[in-house]
Amino acid sequence: MPADTVSVTGWGRTAPTTARLVRPRTYEEAAAAVRECGARGGIPRGLGRAYGDAAQNAGGSVLDMTGLDRVHTIDADGGFVLCDAGVSLHRLMEVLLPLGWFVPVTPGTRYVTVGGAIGADIHGKNHHVSGSFSRHVLSLELLTADGEIRTVGRDTPLFDATAGGMGLTGVILTATIRLQPVETALMSVDTERARDLDDLMARLTATDHRYRYSVAWIDLLARGAAMGRAVLTRGDHAPLDALPEGTRARRDPLAFRTSRFPAAPASLPEGLLSRTTVGLFNELWYRKAPRARTGELQKLSTFFHPLDGVPHWNRIYGRGGFVQYQFVVGHGQEEAVRGIVRRISRRRCPSFLAVLKRFGDADPGWLSFPMPGWTLALDIPANLPGLGAFLDELDEEVATAGGRVYLAKDSRLRPDLLAAMYPRLDDFRALRAESDPRGVFVSDLARRLNL
Ligand SMILES: Cc1cc2nc3c(=O)[nH]c(=O)nc-3n(C[C@H](O)[C@H](O)[C@H](O)COP(=O)(O)OP(=O)(O)OC[C@H]3O[C@@H](n4cnc5c(N)ncnc54)[C@H](O)[C@@H]3O)c2cc1C
Repeated sequence: MPADTVSVTGWGRTAPTTARLVRPRTYEEAAAAVRECGARGGIPRGLGRAYGDAAQNAGGSVLDMTGLDRVHTIDADGGFVLCDAGVSLHRLMEVLLPLGWFVPVTPGTRYVTVGGAIGADIHGKNHHVSGSFSRHVLSLELLTADGEIRTVGRDTPLFDATAGGMGLTGVILTATIRLQPVETALMSVDTERARDLDDLMARLTATDHRYRYSVAWIDLLARGAAMGRAVLTRGDHAPLDALPEGTRARRDPLAFRTSRFPAAPASLPEGLLSRTTVGLFNELWYRKAPRARTGELQKLSTFFHPLDGVPHWNRIYGRGGFVQYQFVVGHGQEEAVRGIVRRISRRRCPSFLAVLKRFGDADPGWLSFPMPGWTLALDIPANLPGLGAFLDELDEEVATAGGRVYLAKDSRLRPDLLAAMYPRLDDFRALRAESDPRGVFVSDLARRLNL
């Protein structure tokens, strides 16, 4: 199988490392790649949308799984799909929407693979209703360290270690996924503004249960009385009768339409995202949002994946790249959320459009990120002076509040905080020691955090 030695990064474009990249096209080639990955081991990779170093492996092998991308079976009556793990959610939407089905969970980009969705046990705007991706996975086929392919059902230790296991229990080859029925490819969206963080949290707490999907875009540069001001966008799949008669949308209600703008240029001036430009952007964006609007029809791509319209948007942070920081703390820890938002706002991090959301019940994945409570995600340019020490302090606050940071976004967490954040870490390590005694599956993330 051809292999190239290439420089690999995550979506944040920090900490590039060099690895041998192999792209299996059959399950047999994938098994051979695992057997032959050598002393520095290997790690599966999907579309590289994890922000940090989860899908890279310095000096070892990286298995690009996007060459295995067949949709095998669709049960259009029952709402199930069996597909390869290298299939993207974008592709699933293309084939499933015309049949009246949607993926059960989508993150803020549809350019992730099913393998990456299970490996990180991703969550979407519907977490408070639908849980994380693995809740909808009925079974999967896993290529383990011995080169064997195992069928892994729910409620087994191997399933719970693999859901959120960051590719470290093996290579997911296929998955059977339960789908969400939809009547149209449009969303019915309610938008409202919250004047500050308390107002925002009160609105989310009081009314989130009315919506299948809910998220708040929060202005982390706003200070004083406006600290934490936000725009809430919440909604559900539009029913057919919400589409006006005689329109193109009504005639073809399940057509999957996306928007595409020019790609971000390969090189942009450093410092483009300064406090001034980001502050201006956030101000405009907040002012432009309606105070309250209900029932607006939006394309799925506008509602779920606004950034996907601009290919390579991650380049806007310049050569230094950016860090994505996401944490969750439980219900009852509202004061910790306030404290952290206050610190970020005082620190004047040029972060545009951060996201606050309430999670619902957790799923059983041992390293799965979501827990019932509040999650905040923000982008920060990696070259911001003092950023490492600042985020270390936030990590400590998060850990003290009983929360955790998201490994799919991480590139810098201190390993000593991990066990407090992920109480099933020892079970995960024990399962790996038993099923992969030679340490075949390893990544930069795994080495850094001793997973
Ligand atoms: C714009 C943007 C928005 C995002 N929004 C969200 C969000 O709302 N919610 C959320 O949860 N995440 C979000 N993410 C993160 C993203 O969903 C996850 O990082 C996801 O894992 C990326 O999938 P991928 O196919 O790109 O996998 P990669 O980034 O290539 O890999 C991610 C992890 O999955 C493992 N993996 C990949 N393929 C396999 C396989 N076949 N078998 C086993 N393990 C595998 C890798 O080893 C790695 O540990 C966002 C990312 C971006 C860029």
